[in-house]
Amino acid sequence: MQQRVFNFSAGPSTLPLPVLKEIQQNLLALPGVGASILEISHRSSTYDEIYESAVANIRQLLELPENYHVLFLQGGATTQFSMVAMNLLQGSEQSAEYIVTGVWGKKAAAEAMKEGSARTAWDGAEENYVRVPYRGELELDPYAAYVHFTSNETIHGVEWQEEPWLDQGVLVCDASSNFLSRPIDVNRYGLIYAGAQKNVGPAGVTIVIIRDDLLEGIPDGLPIMFDYRTHVKKDSAYNTPPIFAIYTIMLVTRWLLDEIGTLEKMQLQNRKKANLLYELIDESGGFYKAHVNTGSRSSMNVTFNITEAALEAEFLKQTQIHKLVQLKGHRSLGGLRASLYNAMTVEGVRALRDCMREFMAVHG
Ligand code: PMP
Repeated sequence: MQQRVFNFSAGPSTLPLPVLKEIQQNLLALPGVGASILEISHRSSTYDEIYESAVANIRQLLELPENYHVLFLQGGATTQFSMVAMNLLQGSEQSAEYIVTGVWGKKAAAEAMKEGSARTAWDGAEENYVRVPYRGELELDPYAAYVHFTSNETIHGVEWQEEPWLDQGVLVCDASSNFLSRPIDVNRYGLIYAGAQKNVGPAGVTIVIIRDDLLEGIPDGLPIMFDYRTHVKKDSAYNTPPIFAIYTIMLVTRWLLDEIGTLEKMQLQNRKKANLLYELIDESGGFYKAHVNTGSRSSMNVTFNITEAALEAEFLKQTQIHKLVQLKGHRSLGGLRASLYNAMTVEGVRALRDCMREFMAVHG
């Protein structure tokens, strides 16, 4: 077998090896079925079992209350930027509040503004997205249709350590890049959406978790695929669902339950991994510099620079030699980014840290 690299990609990203092996082993013929997962109908009992177990695993991991639905939709998290607003804002007298801590939140707000009245309640752009707002800075409309935030901004590496403080109203979260990386109190949310391709599976499916009572306010007349009620009624199979992606989610969530256990344990491991890098960066005497302020730093996407920027190209060459790949920062921010999703091993992060240390010893 070709040797696997340590893949620090921001998404699609590394998946747990046991999951990939199981996919490989059963790709030609699912046990007891004799056909590939790529070939079976979504109207088969095999698919029903896969779908039900994927939903059950997510429910168990998040300790999801009964009054929340789990949906598997297509069109990526980007489609949710519009769909959230079409369902929860269109036709409403109220306005929606967007807390913008990075590029994705900004895009979400822009789409909502096309569907109804939406306001950017806070925007970290002036500081180039280095933190979440301080508590006193946030002035939210108590009558807002909903308040939207991005729990982890993948490009700048800004992560909320806890939810924004909301006395009342509906909290909506784009959790694409930290979904199932840590426990959350679902009861505080009205709707959570997440593209699968970071922590839970391949590209092609977006998970939406929606509280039941929100279905009542959805305006009639939306295109059928853009109405959450369609997907609730039809168990996410109104049309052909992305079967392979849902199958992979089932395997990844099963891996989480069997190999890690709980989201508390996953969070501890994720923090440990991120701290291995942040500590080295902070103790590098200015050789490396973290992009984000302490208190808002992401456990998923560690964004940093080499202060002498001209060295970054050489650094990327060195990491490549050590089979550490996809460490270039997003084109809109530059610098470097190490994405450490659930499936990235401590061994992989140690290898990166060792390489960073060695590079500093030579060039520092
Ligand atoms: N939100 C966040 C936080 C993301 O990281 C991304 C993708 N990197 C998106 C939304 C867009 O997701 P998609 O490509 O699935 O539309």
